[in-house]
Amino acid sequence: MSTFDEVNILFDRASERLGLSDGIRELLRRPWRELRVSVPVRMDDGSIRVFSGYRVQHNGVRGPYKGGVRYHPDADQDEVRALASLMTWKNALVDIPFGGAKGGVQCDPLSLSNDELNRMTRRYTTNIEHLLGVNRDIPAPDLGTSAQTMAWMMDAYSHIHGYSPGIVTGKPVELGGSVGREQATGRGVVLVTRIAAADLGMDPRGARIVIQGFGNVGAWCVRAASEMGCKVIAVSDIHGGVHSGDGLDVRALVAHARESGTVSDFPAADPLDNNEMLELDCDILIPAAIDRVVHAGNAPKVRARLVVEAANHPLTPEADAILGDRGIAVIPDILANAGGVIVSYFEWTQNLYQHRWTLDEVNDELDAMIGKAYAAVRETSLREGISYRDAAFLIGVGRVAAIFQMRGFI
Ligand code: GLU
Repeated sequence: MSTFDEVNILFDRASERLGLSDGIRELLRRPWRELRVSVPVRMDDGSIRVFSGYRVQHNGVRGPYKGGVRYHPDADQDEVRALASLMTWKNALVDIPFGGAKGGVQCDPLSLSNDELNRMTRRYTTNIEHLLGVNRDIPAPDLGTSAQTMAWMMDAYSHIHGYSPGIVTGKPVELGGSVGREQATGRGVVLVTRIAAADLGMDPRGARIVIQGFGNVGAWCVRAASEMGCKVIAVSDIHGGVHSGDGLDVRALVAHARESGTVSDFPAADPLDNNEMLELDCDILIPAAIDRVVHAGNAPKVRARLVVEAANHPLTPEADAILGDRGIAVIPDILANAGGVIVSYFEWTQNLYQHRWTLDEVNDELDAMIGKAYAAVRETSLREGISYRDAAFLIGVGRVAAIFQMRGFI
């Protein structure tokens, strides 16, 4: 089953419960617009490689399209389409005035030099530029992209349209990025984890936590979880993981990763691989890397009490059902990792007004918005007797469907 089909299982359950007509379901399920482009790049050795690039605008009824751009070998049309639809439901759930989109270039960014990445980003941007706009579609970082990628995108777009900081979010702060954007996803994940743990009667202080992934989101989750008093017992990145039953020395681990480029050879802990870590005995598991890491094969072996999805779509629907049957609580991606796009919204607003917020203002607003979304999901879940994931989709899909009717779209 494709990733898009998997996401649509969740969408279909929500539309069934909402009683949407077949026509509206079809309209909401499908992306509104998809663009596939060739991205030719002159490599450092003089050869030419042609990558495939995508931008999928899934639904724009609630506002400009919004969503990240990922550079990853699996970023094909289907995956980008699935992630674009998740953005539609996520943005609606946290009630920010955006539709959903996603972009990607199918490549291995780790095998490209900085100059090659710069050239690839510029060509990708100029090839999709006619779909973008400060009030039309605003990209942001995702897997394999960063503030630097956004600076290149903004520069390429501004060469054509004039100085346009609001065309992307997640930019460097010096270029109009928002303070607090880089850590926002991790902050949101940990905030939601703290509330969910308390709801389960678990004290987050001292809770044993496993975090898979040490990219932007994973690394900030590790720091925020440790600041909150959790015992971070295992962390991994693409090279592998490390484990210590007594809790890792997070400060030393972060310093080590900065030096060596990986957490996997951190000397003060035992090595373990990326699959083993998902099966560790722990209180809270946070998959913060890639999609579909928990599946029917390993879901029966997950030993956490609470799973918080920092990555997009880290659980297959089968895994989700297995964890549900086993009484393991799951906080879904469209709620748990929404902190990033929430602060993207603040960044876009600041760019439109040419005004800067302080870090306290950003963090306070972020905490309030994600806390409100969590409370709505919890309340819906209890009222309807459904999982947090189904509740989150019910709210997101319901809001988009309501706006369709209101605008008299068809
Ligand atoms: N890529 C992030 C996500 O999946 C952020 C998107 C954005 O800020 O537009 O939510």
